[in-house]
Amino acid sequence: MIKFQCSQCGECCKHINLIPQLINFDNGFGICIYLKDNKCSIYEKRPEICRVDVMYEKYYADQFSREEFYHLNEKGCERLKKLRR
Ligand code: SF4
Repeated sequence: MIKFQCSQCGECCKHINLIPQLINFDNGFGICIYLKDNKCSIYEKRPEICRVDVMYEKYYADQFSREEFYHLNEKGCERLKKLRR
């Protein structure tokens, strides 16, 4: 099975002000309070919005192929990298 290629840049976790579902995780600067040393400190328990495959299977499988969904996410990653802090 294809796999989402996360580069572990952490940019998604540094722009959670753009993700309404994570409003309670924002440290006030758009950075997730659970991001430690550029890694998720609650990785095994992270919410579904942070899980590409869960989001695909629960909400997007009827709209996109998995490959298309990964591609859309990768484009999102590229946009976030341009906003890099
Ligand atoms: S919970 Fe973890 S994966 Fe989700 S935004 Fe926070 S640090 Fe990132």
